[in-house]
Parts: sequence; C-alpha cells; structure tokens
Amino acid sequence: MPLDPPDDELRIMVRAKIALGTLPRDGAIQFQPGFGDGQVCTACGVIIAPRTAMYDSDRGSHGRVYLHRPCYDMWIEEMRA
Ligand SMILES: [Zn+2]
Repeated sequence: MPLDPPDDELRIMVRAKIALGTLPRDGAIQFQPGFGDGQVCTACGVIIAPRTAMYDSDRGSHGRVYLHRPCYDMWIEEMRA
C-alpha cells in the first residue's frame, strides 16, 4: 500500500465538516485574511497560534468560521472539486 499524501487526513476532515455543515457548502462565502490570536480552527480543531496567517468568516446565525491557511486552501479546493 502506498502512503497517503500528507494532506489526505486534512482533506477527509474538511469534507466531513462540509458534509455536516460546520464548514460552508457555498464556495462564494467570503473569508477575510488575517492573523491568528488563539482561535480554534473550524476545520482541524487545532488552535491558530498568534501571528499565524488565517482566514475568518462571520456567518451570522451560523457562527464564525476560523481556518488556518492550509485548511482554507483545502476548503477552496473542495469547493472547486
Ligand atoms: Zn486548521
């Protein structure tokens, strides 16, 4: 069995969160780039360290979504798939 590419685990998590609706299913949702300040990444559940590049989106009644840059990139990829 070949080893999975390193991003496979993240892809599976992102897909699951999209399926649950925890992550937006709409690729048109706008995210603002910024820097982390201890928020928890909505995709991988890991704290976004201060001064780390991140993206966030206020979804109103759906709450706020915070993503590490690699997690955001994966979400974008899944939205385009
Ligand atoms: Zn993350």
